[in-house]
Amino acid sequence: MDYPRLIIDTSVLKNNVQKLSEICHSNGIELVGVTKLTLGNPQIGKIMRLNGVDKIGESRLKNIVNLYKNGVPGPYQLLRIPMPSEIPFAVGIVDEFLVSMPETAYLIDRHAQEIDRNVSLIYMIDVGDLREGVWFEKAKEEIIEVANNLRFVHLRGIGTNVGCYGGVLPTEENMSMLLRIKDELEKELGRQLIVSGGSTVTLKLLEDRKLPKGINQFRVGEGIILGTDATGDRDIPYLRQDTVILEAEVIEVDYKPSVPVGEIGKDAFGRTPHFEDRGYRKRVILAVGEQDVKPDGLKPLEDGLQILHASSDHLIVDTTESNREFKVGDIVRFRMSYGCALRAFTSPYVEKVFI
Ligand SMILES: *Cc1c(COP(=O)(O)O)cnc(C)c1O
Repeated sequence: MDYPRLIIDTSVLKNNVQKLSEICHSNGIELVGVTKLTLGNPQIGKIMRLNGVDKIGESRLKNIVNLYKNGVPGPYQLLRIPMPSEIPFAVGIVDEFLVSMPETAYLIDRHAQEIDRNVSLIYMIDVGDLREGVWFEKAKEEIIEVANNLRFVHLRGIGTNVGCYGGVLPTEENMSMLLRIKDELEKELGRQLIVSGGSTVTLKLLEDRKLPKGINQFRVGEGIILGTDATGDRDIPYLRQDTVILEAEVIEVDYKPSVPVGEIGKDAFGRTPHFEDRGYRKRVILAVGEQDVKPDGLKPLEDGLQILHASSDHLIVDTTESNREFKVGDIVRFRMSYGCALRAFTSPYVEKVFI
């Protein structure tokens, strides 16, 4: 019943949280620890908050409710722009909203006032990646208008998101643009604003000492949990990559040709398979599939394994180059990409084990 499973090493996770908190705090940056990769796992949220993270960031309101019910200390930041339909409930539990449209800000304002609970808003500005945010060319006018029309809630600052749709990287240029908009807004509004500068991918600027002064909030998930940066395509050198390991069990060991026998149609996912004739190969089948992981994001922790294919429940691995003699019941261990870990954490079929 226990496989496939994720082994989450709490001491490694602690190490990553503490390291990153130190780095952010010594640079005057508030650190929002993002749990959405883990289905809002309360144990992970707790480790984050008790080891230096200032605030929990989540994209899903349901996850925030779960974290709250399990005693994970807030404050909570809702990362995804709220749906109008969830705002009446959200104002009761979320402490900081990211918003990108005046009507959303006004809805939050109205509903927060109704229950007399003050919350903060961070107005998102699109500096080029083309996901959420008011387009930078019209940001100043829109944000001033909103700030002047809010009656109850607090416009705490501005923010941006990069690396998600366009794969746009954070640079000195786009971060400086954000700071110029902030300066103009501060002048108009007569008070200070914070600047929420990005996610895991933005850490690189900080490391390279290229982050302009004034960016004072980071929202980081992947870096803390996996120690990697998918958009920047790298391991983060001062963080560890072995916090989360996937284990899967061998259910068949065999020796078969590398090219199927028979007429070839499409595979179970509508893909046309392609085969190279490498003769007979040693292979194993693991009891893990598309319902548990994103197979192209699996990185075996041992040499000599090549992932051939996955269907919903089966992963076929070529083991010809491996020195290990596989038997049914053996366990194979993997590191995972962001997308793969996301699927594993959110799959009800994958056990989560904390050590
Ligand atoms: C997911 C998300 C983050 C965190 O991204 P990571 O790459 O996991 O660090 C930050 N901000 C927003 C708006 C997000 O949706």
